[in-house]
Amino acid sequence: MEQDVDKVLIAEEVIQRRLDAMALDIRQDFPGEVIVVIVLLKGAFVFAADLLRRLPRMLEIECLNVASYHGGMESSGQVDFLDRRLPDVKGRKVLVLDDILDTGRTLRAVADRLTAEGATEVKTGVLLAKDKKRAAEVQADYVGFDIGDEFVIGYGLDYQGRYRNLPYVGTLSPDAQ
Ligand code: 5GP
Ligand code: MG
Ligand code: MG
Repeated sequence: MEQDVDKVLIAEEVIQRRLDAMALDIRQDFPGEVIVVIVLLKGAFVFAADLLRRLPRMLEIECLNVASYHGGMESSGQVDFLDRRLPDVKGRKVLVLDDILDTGRTLRAVADRLTAEGATEVKTGVLLAKDKKRAAEVQADYVGFDIGDEFVIGYGLDYQGRYRNLPYVGTLSPDAQ
């Protein structure tokens, strides 16, 4: 275990097994359709890479850079779209993937934006959902794991840009730098 990790919350094998089941659910909901998957960067890149390789090949994959935490441990309350252009989703069915559902503002803002751009259906999937009252009304269609309201790192999630490459999800040690 890394020295800055307090405890492993979800082990690597447990995540991988759960992704098998999530991929099955998604396949059943979009049988034989070419959907546009929008991966929210940076946090969702590990989750998306593992999940999407379990889905049929007919996918269009786009990325969207959004930020709300700015490296720290608290949501800033504001969702920034960092790209100059959005993927073209007019008339398309879209699946948005994010690492974690916290206040809900990110998924809410992205889903609203894609709907405004003409997407015919927007579904959302997250690896983790925190058990708390959300600031924005939103629910993810696919959730890997429900977790408590604590700050987590690993498997894409960072603390000050680090720990994204841990293969498991853990909590940060209180005396991590
Ligand atoms: P929301 O908009 O739902 O409040 O926040 C979603 C975003 O905040 C996530 O995509 C993620 O980037 C960041 N975030 C929320 N909770 C955590 C957490 O426990 N750890 C880390 N590293 N990022 C988090
Ligand atoms: Mg994020
Ligand atoms: Mg972050």
